[in-house]
Amino acid sequence: MRFVSTRGHAAAVSLSEAIAAGLAPDGGLYVPDAIPSLPLAAFDGKDSLQDISVALLQPFFEGDVLAGELDAICAQAFDFPAPVRDLDDGTGVLELFHGPTAAFKDFGARFLAACMSRLRSKATKPLTIIVATSGDTGAAVGGAFHGIAGVRVVILYPDGRVSPRQAHQLGAFGDNVPALRVAGSFDDCQALVKRALNDAELQARVPLSSANSISLGRLLPQMSYYAKAALDHWRRHEEKLNFAIPTGNLGNALACILARRIGLPIGEVLLATNANAVLPEFFDGGPYTPQPSLATLANAMDVGAPSNFERLRWLYPDEDALRESFRAISVSDAAIRDTIGDVWERHAVAVCPHTATAIWALDSLALDGSWAVAATAHPAKFESIVEPLIGQSLTPPPALARLLARPSHADAMAADYEAFVAVLAGG
Ligand SMILES: *Cc1c(COP(=O)(O)O)cnc(C)c1O
Repeated sequence: MRFVSTRGHAAAVSLSEAIAAGLAPDGGLYVPDAIPSLPLAAFDGKDSLQDISVALLQPFFEGDVLAGELDAICAQAFDFPAPVRDLDDGTGVLELFHGPTAAFKDFGARFLAACMSRLRSKATKPLTIIVATSGDTGAAVGGAFHGIAGVRVVILYPDGRVSPRQAHQLGAFGDNVPALRVAGSFDDCQALVKRALNDAELQARVPLSSANSISLGRLLPQMSYYAKAALDHWRRHEEKLNFAIPTGNLGNALACILARRIGLPIGEVLLATNANAVLPEFFDGGPYTPQPSLATLANAMDVGAPSNFERLRWLYPDEDALRESFRAISVSDAAIRDTIGDVWERHAVAVCPHTATAIWALDSLALDGSWAVAATAHPAKFESIVEPLIGQSLTPPPALARLLARPSHADAMAADYEAFVAVLAGG
């Protein structure tokens, strides 16, 4: 399979080349030149997350230098589960927070690292991966690459806009994973990263790559847990499973949408955003108007310009068809708070603020069919928000607790391109 740019002005490349590059040279995002279609029979006899991922991703790896290693890559990346736990009202909660940094981004980051470390062993120059994060991406990517030879990960996060535990995590890796706390918003961090990735002069001196949700190496593996949840449901009930997904940069939801297009038994995909309502406004019939991001309780979704929207437009070239295909709901901080308290009271389940947006959006619509909510982070990562609302303290899962026990350091940096270049070239 070959991969092309959403903007149509870049040469077709292999999967490995697309993964290594991050962004296409014309500034677009890599997408497959044709979307494979898999019959359900392709998954016969496959029950585990690993086996389902291999069957699902195999067409994308066809003809690539990594094709022979797909089994090993999936085994290395998906060594923790993604169970669905049912609330008393029948809503499923797809728990995506059992990885090393307790958020769904571990799936994509670990898969990307498993691919890149194999590609790096064939290269010589050290590679710097730059990652802008609204909290969870940086930790997942830092964790996935920590200690991998020949790779440095530079994390940029908006100072003061991530939770204390997130900040601690981001600075806790050290070694080949330095962290920069930037005086600005997530969008400022992302703009610095995009500019550096498009800076040919800088790249000649310092080979760069990205690991943001624009990376194909993160997007594709995220299809796996939706595929597994939907297949499990189909095998038990012969019915499609619908998903409500907390959405920021649209990477997680796009993976679900892509899995549906490939042929998995997935019904509706409901997009839940926080107060950053660019997507809901578009789906309500307005133009697509990126905006500066607003700080909210669901901070990993504080995105005013969802980067994967470009891939959604590629999947649905007709704007009316796109608008008819999805619902998107914006959820206020007040509603997030109410939902965290309410879910605890009704079901004795603690949810993170991001997960709460999807639960609120789903409840507000009273839709038919079977639904699962993507639970994107462990609530203990957002203890300063969740604990007062449920009146309980939350125990971090063991991997998170280990990270929190390490010392943490991040360098302050202005949201300034020259300052960023100096860090990249100097380190
Ligand atoms: C990143 C993140 C999201 C948003 O995912 P996107 O792929 O950016 O839409 C939601 N919840 C949590 C906890 C996250 O870390």
